[in-house]
Amino acid sequence: MTNLDYSPLTLLLTDVDDTLTTQGRLSPETYTALCQLADAGVSVVPITGGCAGWCDMILRTWPVAAVVGEGGAFYGLRTANGSVEWHFWDSAEQHRADQSAILETLKTLSLSFDVALAKDQPLRWVDVAIDYRQDAHLTKAQADQLCTAFTAAGYQAKCSSIHINVWRGDFNKAAMAKRLLREVFSLDEATAQEQVLFIGDAPNDEPMFEAFPNSVGVANIVPHLDGMAHQPKQLTQGKAGVGFVEMANAWLSNLRDRQG
Ligand SMILES: [Mg+2]
Repeated sequence: MTNLDYSPLTLLLTDVDDTLTTQGRLSPETYTALCQLADAGVSVVPITGGCAGWCDMILRTWPVAAVVGEGGAFYGLRTANGSVEWHFWDSAEQHRADQSAILETLKTLSLSFDVALAKDQPLRWVDVAIDYRQDAHLTKAQADQLCTAFTAAGYQAKCSSIHINVWRGDFNKAAMAKRLLREVFSLDEATAQEQVLFIGDAPNDEPMFEAFPNSVGVANIVPHLDGMAHQPKQLTQGKAGVGFVEMANAWLSNLRDRQG
């Protein structure tokens, strides 16, 4: 963690799954590191593919300045009076209509296998998540067949490790992060490149590594690096939440040094 200069940094964008969480759990050490960064004045913003229901909980209970959810479909903010507000990539009504249309399209597909929605589908505002390998066990060929069918119907479809996500719209994590930085933190792209650090763990974070040159990969990203055109500037020794703590400690020590 030595080649990264933390001095100009003010804001942390962090992936959640397998970056903050370790084997699906948020450890006390990782949560403490998150709190210490926030207490030291760093604005922390989780950037996740997770559902709206999860984002609402994060925003209301974690020491974060904002959250980006469902792969960049929206961002959420705490308001001055302590409530939360949501900003969508397109209008909320448009996203709702698109989501209904995707669910209708799913019913019309003639498939030779059963398809189940992700159990958290009712907590999603924009995305449609089909269970791939969470509780279901679809084959790769079946997942590819679904992606092809939705793409042919004019939607975007992508496989994560557990879900097939289907949506309409040209958003992604990086595009929405840039919009949030501009609208809420008044950071233009050049300033964001100087002041923002991103930490992530997987190939689906590649647009974020491309957009934010100050970037860290937790060690579980190593097996994926060969296939990635845009890689993190620094790697941690530890995996997942342990690696996050390493990065946080390096940043906190830089802040202490500068405060004398
Ligand atoms: Mg992740």
